[in-house]
Amino acid sequence: MSHYPHLMQPIDLGPLQLPNRVLMGSMHTNLEERGDWNRVAEFYAERARGGVGLMVTGGMAPNAEGGVFPGASGLFTAEDIVHHRMVTSRVHAAGGKIAMQILHAGRYAYGKDCVAPSAIRSPISPFRPTALDGMGIEKQIADIATAAARARDAGYDGVELMGSEGYFLNQFLVRHSNHRDDEWGGSYENRMRLPVEVMRRVRAMLGADFLVIFRLSLMDLVPDGSSWAEVVQLARAVQAAGANVLNTGIGWHEARVPTIATSVPRQAFSWLTGRLRPEVTIPVIASNRINTPEVAEAILATGEADMVSMARPLLADPDFVVKAQTGRAKQIAPCIACNQACLDHTFAGKTSSCLVNPRAGHETQLTITPTQVPRRIAVVGAGPAGLSAAITAAGRGHQVTLFDRADQIGGQLIYARAIPGKEEFHGLTDWFATMLVVSGVDLRLRCDVRPDDLVGYDEVIVATGVRPRDPQIPVYGGHVVTYPDLLSGRVSAGARVAVIGAGGIGFDVAEFLTTVHSPTLDLAAWRREWGVGDPAQSRGGLVTAAPEAAARQVWLLQRKAERPGKNLGRTTGWIHRAALKAKGVKMLSGVNYDQISDQGLHINFGPEQGAGQILPVDTVVLCAGQLSETGLAKALTAAHKPFHLIGGADVAAELDAKRAIDQGTRLGAAL
Ligand code: FAD
Ligand code: NAP
Ligand code: SF4
Repeated sequence: MSHYPHLMQPIDLGPLQLPNRVLMGSMHTNLEERGDWNRVAEFYAERARGGVGLMVTGGMAPNAEGGVFPGASGLFTAEDIVHHRMVTSRVHAAGGKIAMQILHAGRYAYGKDCVAPSAIRSPISPFRPTALDGMGIEKQIADIATAAARARDAGYDGVELMGSEGYFLNQFLVRHSNHRDDEWGGSYENRMRLPVEVMRRVRAMLGADFLVIFRLSLMDLVPDGSSWAEVVQLARAVQAAGANVLNTGIGWHEARVPTIATSVPRQAFSWLTGRLRPEVTIPVIASNRINTPEVAEAILATGEADMVSMARPLLADPDFVVKAQTGRAKQIAPCIACNQACLDHTFAGKTSSCLVNPRAGHETQLTITPTQVPRRIAVVGAGPAGLSAAITAAGRGHQVTLFDRADQIGGQLIYARAIPGKEEFHGLTDWFATMLVVSGVDLRLRCDVRPDDLVGYDEVIVATGVRPRDPQIPVYGGHVVTYPDLLSGRVSAGARVAVIGAGGIGFDVAEFLTTVHSPTLDLAAWRREWGVGDPAQSRGGLVTAAPEAAARQVWLLQRKAERPGKNLGRTTGWIHRAALKAKGVKMLSGVNYDQISDQGLHINFGPEQGAGQILPVDTVVLCAGQLSETGLAKALTAAHKPFHLIGGADVAAELDAKRAIDQGTRLGAAL
């Protein structure tokens, strides 16, 4: 019997037939802007070889004013078409299909020339857009239709019109951003005129025999967003105007509800796609937080959608489809929805990549090939750095032994996966466990390695990670614990807790301390937590949030005067800050620690702020950063034994799993 029979079933989209139901959703890679089109072509070709049914490119601007940022790539000139042909021909040679997304950013365009239905600045942009006049609107429509024709000339198999996520077409639909009183504003018929007209003109430009996907916002999650009746009305109108497929989107970029982060439950929004499906006769595609073949198969099997869109999971593993198809689903490198190397990079202007797959976006540079000289390699430390080095080196044909003094693999990831909202990290450690077996690594747990244990190996890799920093606060009583003690379950905390250190771990620990039931594992609870209702009952799907009461009173402290959480992930920091605020966590900056006693934590804010105070806490949890675990490295150095040093053992400052995996993989590929 076929694995995942619904997912692997071919589908006829009219102008295009696909071998399976997987669409790789649009992702901006930042590769196009670098001008290295060979790299762009290889990024997509690798995913085509992995069997994905259809890919959609990152958003391409139809004109300069519609670009997400000045210089954003698009299809403006004949030279652009030559570049894009390189991509389409490489994808076709690899047996794949690719559609180009046309993205007009409207008021989200990060530049002073941005245009929109009305001159209303978005809360996530410093630029106030110019309200278009009638001729200006006509120009935008014509430019989008021209971009579609150029995409066809460049060899694409279709185009996707980006009509969701709060971009240009979406901005016309709702009063939130459209205050016009001409034929493009006012009544819903007028507000939806632009997206429908764009669809109609694109169809007229392309003729009947070319795939056009329309990406529709099912739930805007902004005030005064679309009602469900309006969503359905638009879906039908877009279908009548010539769309072959409806892809779906959830939430505008300015929405204060997370829609793709790791703490969002899996397939959190597929119920809405299921509700749209009977309203139209063309195929509909479900998206957002679909990251395993099981979840994708369930969505299709229950009739919620005709196809599933997975974007980041195809960054994490280009071979997602072929592995699912051939009974190797456990070998699929999981997207943990962290955004750390993809979206966070995109917004920082860096090449998008992936925390679990550092090759993503670097396919032409980080190549992993069989070794010609197999060697005996010892890796000490089964955290993400050591695990990545071990499976990469063993996968190339080296004979690898991996040691850890713990009784399980994962290193600090074991603590990460204990955090409510970070359950996806279980998938990462499970995947590492599978890959150790597949690549033939000899795993030895409960081995506290010393230099004498490493005799006879050709190469030694030290990946012994980090240990918590002791902030040296005088302790005269009270209950003081470290985050490993707490998160491993060795100790529990009292009803009132102070967390010392407001870095990534301090925030996670505060989440752990205040959460009773993880809303990530309970969709109804998560919707209450974030105020996600039903667009059939409240416009945009927004309702008042009703988070579960906090399990404890928590103070989260740091010495720096800046806002706590300032250095958390670019696209996810706000989620952590909002979640803790909802739990009543008191965040204090500019704190000096005096001592810990039976009365609690004694602090002050400097001489000019007057006398200090005592936080009356039962437990103090230390999350004051980390130091490299250097015992083994020092002993090897003293014994004049050469070794490679990676991960936290190398540099503890600003260490995260992204760097640990990247460093381990690159070393494993190089030996
Ligand atoms: P470690 O993970 O520390 O692993 C080192 C391993 O070496 C351990 O298993 C240890 O037992 C072993 N070892 C040490 N000495 C010896 C010896 N002599 N012999 C044998 N074995 C030895 N990072 C992110 O990127 N994103 C996140 O969301 C994230 N969340 C986190 C949440 C929490 C609560 C915590 C604690 C960490 C989080 N991190 C996160 C950080 C991430 O887990 C670490 O950066 C990463 O694990 C470091 O990897 P490493 O392999 O260098 O070291
Ligand atoms: P961190 O981000 O460096 O934070 C350490 C905290 O401890 C800071 O708030 C720091 O603030 C405080 N501190 C440092 N020295 C101190 C001292 N001597 N006494 C008292 N307080 C002290 O490190 P972390 O929280 O341990 O996280 C480690 C790494 O894991 C991070 O680099 C992060 O990237 C990664 N991580 C990532 C995520 C994620 O979601 N992406 C989540 C968890 C962890 P002050 O100096 O101002 O007091
Ligand atoms: Fe997924 Fe994180 Fe990789 Fe992005 S960086 S693709 S969110 S695992």
